[in-house]
Amino acid sequence: MTTTAESLRCKECGRTYPLQALFVCDYCFGPLEVAYDYEKIRRRATKERIAAGPPSLWRYADFLPVNERPAVDLQAGYTPLIKADRLAAELGLKKLWVKNDTANPTHSFKDRVVSVALQRALELGFDVVACASTGNLANSVGAHAAASGTEAYVFVPANLEIQKIIATAIYGINVVKVRGNYDDVNRLCTEIASEKKWAFVNVNVRPYYAEGSKTLAFETAEQLGWRAPDKIVSPVASGSLLTKIYKGFWELGEVGLIRRKEPVVCGAQAEGCSPVAAAFREGSEHVKPVKPDTIAKSLAIGNPADGIFALDIVRKTGGVIESVTEQEIVDGIKLLAETTGIFTETAGGVTTAVLAKLAAQGKVHAQDETVLYITGDGLKTLDAVADTISTYEIDPRLSDFEEQVLEQSVAAPKPGRRHPASGKAAASRATGKSSAIQKKKAKGAAK
Ligand SMILES: *Cc1c(COP(=O)(O)O)cnc(C)c1O
Ligand SMILES: [Zn+2]
Repeated sequence: MTTTAESLRCKECGRTYPLQALFVCDYCFGPLEVAYDYEKIRRRATKERIAAGPPSLWRYADFLPVNERPAVDLQAGYTPLIKADRLAAELGLKKLWVKNDTANPTHSFKDRVVSVALQRALELGFDVVACASTGNLANSVGAHAAASGTEAYVFVPANLEIQKIIATAIYGINVVKVRGNYDDVNRLCTEIASEKKWAFVNVNVRPYYAEGSKTLAFETAEQLGWRAPDKIVSPVASGSLLTKIYKGFWELGEVGLIRRKEPVVCGAQAEGCSPVAAAFREGSEHVKPVKPDTIAKSLAIGNPADGIFALDIVRKTGGVIESVTEQEIVDGIKLLAETTGIFTETAGGVTTAVLAKLAAQGKVHAQDETVLYITGDGLKTLDAVADTISTYEIDPRLSDFEEQVLEQSVAAPKPGRRHPASGKAAASRATGKSSAIQKKKAKGAAK
């Protein structure tokens, strides 16, 4: 079956191009985006047909710029949407869901974009796939290259977390550590892409890659019973993900699968790399590049390619882009883990902490149906939280257990949990370690 995609279209001047490995407009240097025949999608994509599809992002193939589903594939997507009542209660909210994209094959949402980019690259006749990565993309390109038997080169900043390097090199692909930050890596890859006939998933086949993120919105709508939530909170690195979640809901509305097209879109950045949040705060039309310095390395893009488009969407839907400190990121990771059972990497700490901030500021209201996008797994960034956890260590003696564990844990009950000794829910969060988020929350609640 041929794709419903019609052309590549310049996001600045609207000129169209054929569906080839192109990514910038020849006339105005604007970025290219895939344009579709929505009539065709409307005719093809019924709820029944989607429901009968595979339990992966390929159930939405009618909305993607590929002719075929991949022959061999990791089945990314269709991750859980979890009603997060305990997290909601902590934040003073009532209707909160977490989209748990740590449940993807390589434990981040990047499996969505890579699935689509690789399939399109193979359809276009490429036999080497490559990328410039802040880590998760490298993991995913490695896995997809291995599954499909494609040769791969991935380029990463040399100071990347060791977990992400090992979890990429394990696939037997070429991992190139570049002494520089992501923006240096990206510049190098753009140069290599002009020399070699390789498919750089986030450079020369970026328009196809970016479409993969729409499936986060499709799944959310389907899992909510075919509707869009009131508000969403998405992390922002290059800004691509946020713009495509928006496009996904918009398309479902456009083809009549949901009624309202536009949730309020909010963005989350780490203060140490917050060029889009800064532009939002200052009411600026430009995103000024910064030099990233944050533990949220997967969001550490100082010169975000889609920053201005993310800004536009947030503004026109009435959303907000906020940033949070390093301490708030760590607190966000812990808050999410302790209230939902989901362990996220630093990017998810950013998103959770921004939601906490927006709730405390009254920008997300108790009655808003809100979806929080958790895009990567905590096992990838253990160092960020390694010195914040506490454990007991005892000799194998009952008396040690009673004296050093039970008595201690009675003294420090966990938030909102029943303690085995008392049978009552603990009244407050753990003693001593009161966090910025909690202080903010207390302030917000007092108003
Ligand atoms: C890449 C990434 C993002 C954001 O991606 P952009 O599309 O570049 O904004 C968010 N979370 C995680 C975990 C990522 O790896
Ligand atoms: Zn143009």
